[in-house]
Amino acid sequence: MPLFFGERRVVGWWAAGLAIPLCLVAFAGSAAPTVRPLLSVARSAVVTRSPAGVTIVSAPLAFEPVTIRPRRHPLDGMSPSELDALVKASPDRLGPAIVGLPNRGSLLNPITLESGDGIEVMNDERRFATAVTVSSLRAAVAEVEREFPGSVLRVGDISGRRGGYIRPHRSHQAGVDADIGFYYRTPAKWYTKANAANLDCAKTWALLKALVAQGTVEYVFVDRSVQALLREYALAQGEPREFLDALFESPAKKDTLIRHAWGHLTHFHARFIDPVAEETGRRARPSLEKAGLANRSVQRRSKK
Ligand SMILES: [Zn+2]
Repeated sequence: MPLFFGERRVVGWWAAGLAIPLCLVAFAGSAAPTVRPLLSVARSAVVTRSPAGVTIVSAPLAFEPVTIRPRRHPLDGMSPSELDALVKASPDRLGPAIVGLPNRGSLLNPITLESGDGIEVMNDERRFATAVTVSSLRAAVAEVEREFPGSVLRVGDISGRRGGYIRPHRSHQAGVDADIGFYYRTPAKWYTKANAANLDCAKTWALLKALVAQGTVEYVFVDRSVQALLREYALAQGEPREFLDALFESPAKKDTLIRHAWGHLTHFHARFIDPVAEETGRRARPSLEKAGLANRSVQRRSKK
């Protein structure tokens, strides 16, 4: 369960594209849009607002209410038979679709992450993603590029062309998981272990902050030793302590957005949220199964 979020993580196609600078997105899906709290940049007080009025409570962080207004999903208004016909005639017109779950699913009509503009793709066979994953990565890298021109971020495995299980990952099945390299101060091969001597904290923090700020990341796995380096750097740059406490894992709080996971001393693992692709997959799955287009891996559990 992501830290800042309501009872459930972001679900529902209507949340797509939401980008709130330095806020972490947080709402639950439901048929009726509701007011949900968002964690914003640290301010002097927590502000909660109810329909009856505004209450101000003294606390270090500001929670600002937002009303999520549904957007139209591309498949809105389409009947099951029309969906069947579309899937049969031109399934590519569905757009990217997550069929099943990121840990047990597949990917239809992926977007390909290309090398260039500050990104080096490490494996062409595993660079297939949803639209949010690609656009979020590109936008974050563009932020780093603005501050540090000429930087190159290596991106490792995302998903295979059709999604499904790829060794040795538990997830990476539906285009919303990405292994993302660090920036180093010294020349370093892909999968070099980061430490105080080689990690470029300025660029890596800029990337992480930009990724989080978009509100499209559910969580990031990274070794706690790297978290400590980045947190220390960010604090020295004047980032609010409360913001960092809420973002990075600590002994007291482990369900933060940035979390320790074994095997992440060489790269980040980011899980993105793509509600449109999720909803497309959910709605289209019966038609895809009828047409024999649902990847078999949907039914297959990963081995670890
Ligand atoms: Zn990974």
